[in-house]
Amino acid sequence: MRKDGINRRTVLTGTSALGAASLLSGRAMAQAAAPASRPATSLPARGEFVVRGANVLSMDSAIGDLPSGDVHVRDGAIVAVAENVNAPGAQAIDGKNMICMPGFVDTHWHHWTTCLRPIIRQDDPKLTYFPVTFKTGLHFTPEDSYRSVRLGTAQALAAGITTTQNWAHNVRSPAHADAEMSAMRDSGIRGRFAYGNPLGDPDDKPMDIADLARAKRDWVGKDGMLTLGICSRNVDGSQGGTRGAISIEMAKKEWGAARDLGLPITLHTSGVDAIKTLTGTGLLGPDLQMVHPLGSTAEGRAELVKNGVSYSTSPIGEARRAGDIQFPEMLEAGVKMSMSIDHTTTYNCDCFVCMRMLYTLNIHRFGPKNTLTARRLVQLATIDGPRDLGFGDKTGSLTPGKRADLILIRTTDINLSSLGDPYEALVTMGQPDNIDTVVVDGRILRRKNQFMALDFEKVSRDAADSAASVKAKAKWA
Ligand SMILES: [Zn+2]
Repeated sequence: MRKDGINRRTVLTGTSALGAASLLSGRAMAQAAAPASRPATSLPARGEFVVRGANVLSMDSAIGDLPSGDVHVRDGAIVAVAENVNAPGAQAIDGKNMICMPGFVDTHWHHWTTCLRPIIRQDDPKLTYFPVTFKTGLHFTPEDSYRSVRLGTAQALAAGITTTQNWAHNVRSPAHADAEMSAMRDSGIRGRFAYGNPLGDPDDKPMDIADLARAKRDWVGKDGMLTLGICSRNVDGSQGGTRGAISIEMAKKEWGAARDLGLPITLHTSGVDAIKTLTGTGLLGPDLQMVHPLGSTAEGRAELVKNGVSYSTSPIGEARRAGDIQFPEMLEAGVKMSMSIDHTTTYNCDCFVCMRMLYTLNIHRFGPKNTLTARRLVQLATIDGPRDLGFGDKTGSLTPGKRADLILIRTTDINLSSLGDPYEALVTMGQPDNIDTVVVDGRILRRKNQFMALDFEKVSRDAADSAASVKAKAKWA
């Protein structure tokens, strides 16, 4: 019931809902608002189906690859993966000329910024990501946050991402937190919500720890669809554009509070050496994920391995920065790696391009000495992500007993036809448009490149309205 209450409050922040609410009161209002929260009605049911005759890339070493295999799913779980599965009564999904593999996993994405795409641009310093997100971010209502995360998660699903970490560094109130988590739930995607401070807050003002505890109580269920963590402000002296910079004392306070709640931490390392800053403080640990592997030293990487710290690389954005993306150095040192989109305001959500970027840059750096394989990159984009986010026992591979997060990729499209090695094809030639079907937790959310339940026209229109609204409130010149 508590969640229903949250949903209603979030929904009622919208202008149309407020208009309707003014005509209603009390019980009648609650009854009218409930359908708008949509969780029960907007997501397809978990049924029973078998993908038959697909080119299965299980990402499970015990199962391996099946050039023609079946994947049986029932009530959200993978029941069997084999060359032939006997499942009378299950709906058959033709997997012929399709690659069937685990969904992609994004491990850091600032979903709340997605709606700002009409304003942000890369080629004008006044209109790049940081100035625009900071100026408009101060004016976000919970409804704006909801709409932006709806657009971001819709885009993620369309690109075959079945798990995301929502790096929410503009939680302006408890209602904003609820709005972002409502949007994640309503999309049907699996994910972690990384709770952050509001943009513009003083660096010496701590995160709302009481609400973090409340969010954990209200939102983290046993179904494994949504987990919680925190996203920290920078600790290396850099403001990171807009995210703020905190002292080690403040990090100890905020991270300590998160850890007391059993919640993990994610941190950008865009400035000077964050690893060096944190070494010896007792703050490094296996529940810490760093973002953007640039500029580290061999000693720093050894420190990460010693403390079990992971690193998320966002290749498209990082390729625009000075210095090498240290993916190969991290792998060689033994750092746990994962892949992320970061944002989609100045580039597309495209896991194929993320993999291709790492592949290309590696070849650019090492030439014939390159040892990075296409298969390793597909592993990075699938099973490495859940291991980083703590979903490793639930998803990331097509393994009986795990939850059914999978995608079907058409190999008859012009860019993939005459398929050779599937890993090579995905990394060098794949594109999101090839993704025919997206399943999360056994729910078929997309089929034949179309959403099954999500009203994308509305999601898109709402996001555009929010962009115009925050732009006006920010008195954008
Ligand atoms: Zn980021």
